[in-house]
Amino acid sequence: MKNRTTTFILFIAFSAISYAWVPKIAFAASAPLIEGLRVEVLDTNTSQEDLVKAVNFISDMNKTFQFDLAQHPIKIKFCGYGSQACSAWGNAYYPEEQTLVFEIRRKTYFGKIRVVDFEFTQHTLAHEYAHHVFRVHMGQNDVYQRAFHLTQVTEKYRKLTTELQNAIEKKPPGNNNEMRNYLEDQVKMLEENYKHISKNEWAHAHRVTSLFSYYNELFADLMAAVYFSNPKTMCLGIEAGVCSVEETIRRQFDVQISNDGMKWGAHTVFAASRYDIWLTYQKLLNQGRSKSYILEKLARLFIQQAELNANQPENESEIVRWNSQLIEALNKVGR
Ligand SMILES: [Zn+2]
Repeated sequence: MKNRTTTFILFIAFSAISYAWVPKIAFAASAPLIEGLRVEVLDTNTSQEDLVKAVNFISDMNKTFQFDLAQHPIKIKFCGYGSQACSAWGNAYYPEEQTLVFEIRRKTYFGKIRVVDFEFTQHTLAHEYAHHVFRVHMGQNDVYQRAFHLTQVTEKYRKLTTELQNAIEKKPPGNNNEMRNYLEDQVKMLEENYKHISKNEWAHAHRVTSLFSYYNELFADLMAAVYFSNPKTMCLGIEAGVCSVEETIRRQFDVQISNDGMKWGAHTVFAASRYDIWLTYQKLLNQGRSKSYILEKLARLFIQQAELNANQPENESEIVRWNSQLIEALNKVGR
């Protein structure tokens, strides 16, 4: 990322000097201010107009869901169509840094390959932003926090040992004894600090974080659908409302899908529960509950379910169990 950051800094310097000739580019780095939101623009393709739309969108989501961003800050890195920066990162939320990367305009397949603007990409922004909201909920859960910490340690250990291996093999060549000693010390320190953790506990931590991530994906789709009051929202972001691809059909909330345990990936593990989730949402809405109240309630329910499953043994038919258990819990909501 270093080169790109440098390019961007150079770009700001350049555009400040040449302001009179390229005013449109010179404006590209500023966005409306929202407390708790740090905006970074990764490239020169992002227009001021798009940036304002995206930031106002975040502000409106906060209002709808009464989410206090000042208490739970986020950094959003925006870029425009065709930027190398965004295609390298992809649209994603990075929980360890509380950072979101988002491509405002993107080239995608919407019947044919074309560039879509914020009207279509906003559904993805809603989904990614929802990950940040769910991260706040997960952060209050001890089981998740502990597991998340251990997976972070694993990741750090992997990086350090790779760097150490490179230093031993002298990549890059040269005298790197100092670096090698430093890395060896770091690796030893990690091993010493975590030697009391058993193999089973490490494995369990990975199971817990992936389990929570399934509920996280479900919540992100739900929050986007609730925000737009449309159970087909995820199709709008992926297929312009066509919902023809199996995966997108399984991400809708208005199609009944049999609980056959077919695992279609992280986004569709709970395909069989989505219809019941939407029924519950509508029931609570009819009882006069606000969108923010409903989302908060369902977030808590998802986290309870994740914790419950984390304590059950792993087996082949567990996706069926996760879904039937979730549907059963949903039936008790709002009675
Ligand atoms: Zn996601």
